[in-house]
Amino acid sequence: MGKNSHIEWTHHTFNPWWGCAKVSPACAHCYAETLTKRFGGAIWGVKGQRRFFGDAHWNEPLRWNKEAQRAKTRFRVFCASMSDVFEDRRDLDGERLKLWALIEKTKSLDWLLLTKRPEAVERLVPWGEHWPDNVWLGTSVENQEWADKRLPKLIAIPAKIRFLSCEPLLGALDLTRFTKKNTIHWIIAGGESAKGARPMHPDWVRGLRDFCEKQGIAFHFKQWGNFAPAPKKLTGQTQFTFPDDLVMVLRNKAVNGRNLDGKTHDEFPPRFPK
Ligand code: SF4
Repeated sequence: MGKNSHIEWTHHTFNPWWGCAKVSPACAHCYAETLTKRFGGAIWGVKGQRRFFGDAHWNEPLRWNKEAQRAKTRFRVFCASMSDVFEDRRDLDGERLKLWALIEKTKSLDWLLLTKRPEAVERLVPWGEHWPDNVWLGTSVENQEWADKRLPKLIAIPAKIRFLSCEPLLGALDLTRFTKKNTIHWIIAGGESAKGARPMHPDWVRGLRDFCEKQGIAFHFKQWGNFAPAPKKLTGQTQFTFPDDLVMVLRNKAVNGRNLDGKTHDEFPPRFPK
């Protein structure tokens, strides 16, 4: 299977441009910012330029689409890991138009558009009430404050599949009031992995898992991140203690893995949810 992404829940990652500006606490240790600073170039923040790409880059999804057709399958494409497609700047409008056309041309790819700016979606897409079947629209939700701000915007949009990325999960979430009419079809959850990572209490992710099970929502637990519940025998790693005395240890995210109460959670939504 073709795959150019290390992210568990996607086959490919496509970035129409690089660069972004921070909008909420989830952005504090932004992976894209750390990576772009390594390459140099002022593509960060409200005043920064964005980095654009040529035809070779834009042709890649056409190739993935052909591969998917040949294999009689579909590939998921995460868009975007190094920017936010719905950053509302006029210098990005031309690239966005190219992206919408590309999405419409690549019917064997499912495009997962993930944004922290759902309030800008309606005015930036050309699809009105008729979204293409191959677009999944998601928003990031790190805590209750941002769930309350972003979810009403997301669920008002008639994308075929709507999803949440609760990573880094920074607090307990109560989503009950947003899921009355089959509004959310998929929830991804995970802890933070970055320098200065913030620990995720296991009960926050358990709460999401149980909520999804009750509501019939597909659930994907991506990772603990750098902090995981402490094993019985501690061997001197950095620790963090929550107010309820639960101890988390700081380790490599690969060591911490993605097992939750003895299970991995890898669900995906049906292509056409009822
Ligand atoms: S929206 Fe995404 S890409 Fe932009 S700063 Fe926040 S985490 Fe980084």
